Amino acid sequence: MTTESPRDRSGHPALLGGAPTFGEPLFVARSRIPSWDRLGARFQAVVESRRLTNNGPLVQELEAALRARLGTGFCIATANGTIGLQLALRALALEGEVITTPFTFPATVHAIEWNGLEPVFCDIDPETYNLSPELVAARVTDRTSAVLPVHVFGNPCDIKGFGELAASRSLRVLYDAAHAFGVETAGQSVLEAGDLSVLSFHATKLFHSAEGGAVVGSSEEYRRANALLRNFGIVNEEEVSGVGLNAKLSELHAALGLELLPLMDDEIARRATVASRYTESLGGLEGVRFQKFAPTTKRNYAYFTIEIDESTFGLSRDELHRALRLDNIVTRKYFYPLASQNSSYRGLPSSHPESVPNATRVAERVLCLPIYGELSAGDADAVAATIVALARDPDQVRSALSVLEA
Ligand SMILES: *Cc1c(COP(=O)(O)O)cnc(C)c1O
Repeated sequence: MTTESPRDRSGHPALLGGAPTFGEPLFVARSRIPSWDRLGARFQAVVESRRLTNNGPLVQELEAALRARLGTGFCIATANGTIGLQLALRALALEGEVITTPFTFPATVHAIEWNGLEPVFCDIDPETYNLSPELVAARVTDRTSAVLPVHVFGNPCDIKGFGELAASRSLRVLYDAAHAFGVETAGQSVLEAGDLSVLSFHATKLFHSAEGGAVVGSSEEYRRANALLRNFGIVNEEEVSGVGLNAKLSELHAALGLELLPLMDDEIARRATVASRYTESLGGLEGVRFQKFAPTTKRNYAYFTIEIDESTFGLSRDELHRALRLDNIVTRKYFYPLASQNSSYRGLPSSHPESVPNATRVAERVLCLPIYGELSAGDADAVAATIVALARDPDQVRSALSVLEA
């Protein structure tokens, strides 16, 4: 909830002399926090027990609750999502090339590199923003051992198609499900797909434990491998096996997750309201498109993005981003720059913009708008009204920006 009420919701943008739509910065994400009464009691119990970490009772309780909530065979909680990806790739015992998307957070690609594997970028579908089995199939070589697709912004990948591709080419499939908490496709949890999936419970994610993550799947072999790798590879007092990591979640983080979990239905419902306000207000605006979700998808509304076509909208995505900032509306250009444009990966042949043209175009056009449970419908309407107002006179907005930034 914004503490200060918006001063000018009529949609006269600050850039053009109006009062800022919001008195204080409105960010893209805001962590949901459980009641201090309950959380404080949990924290106190943890501290008094002196059992602070090392697969303690709260981590185990959280894993069981997540298994039930997400419909997965096993759940290995980790210190964060990135280290979960590192463990999962290691547990799959891969070699050679791993095909992934450039339209993602840097961690997806880093996890491949940290495992001594070679990332190969593949272009995305221009409407869903996801890898497609058809595009990936064209990148498979004799050296490919796995595919690492991302359910971008909680939009399910074609899990059936990837399953078929994996079976026909003997590939492993690891999903980066950092955005996909609770997402279903045709009544099935997306987390049931592939060999393994990895969630992130970072504070900016839909469900969070400040820092945290999980590796989920159904194979007992992979469960054991990930559990071992999470704890240095320690089998027992006498034996250590494999190059493990310390990827354990602490009891305090688990306590936060356990108190948040029951609030997730409410959080998702509130976000759905925000998303429907944006869809209603911006859907008819020329030059604005939305990411395409299949009607069979049960969404989680972790993100809400718009795609700006400068030629019809009148302003570029970057100009809109800068103009909104003056109204205290802080939007994010996820995922610009593409993960493939990191200086460590830029030189790869598959990173060339001509090799990933859809991803390059989408990254130049996409903008994430504020969405979280505590954002009121009125605030969402005010965000949308500001965008509509900026689109009304693009020439004036552009010249005001150039004066301001001169
Ligand atoms: C957030 C995120 C990660 C990393 O998760 P952390 O918990 O922050 O380490 C990985 N992949 C994607 C797509 C993400 O958005």
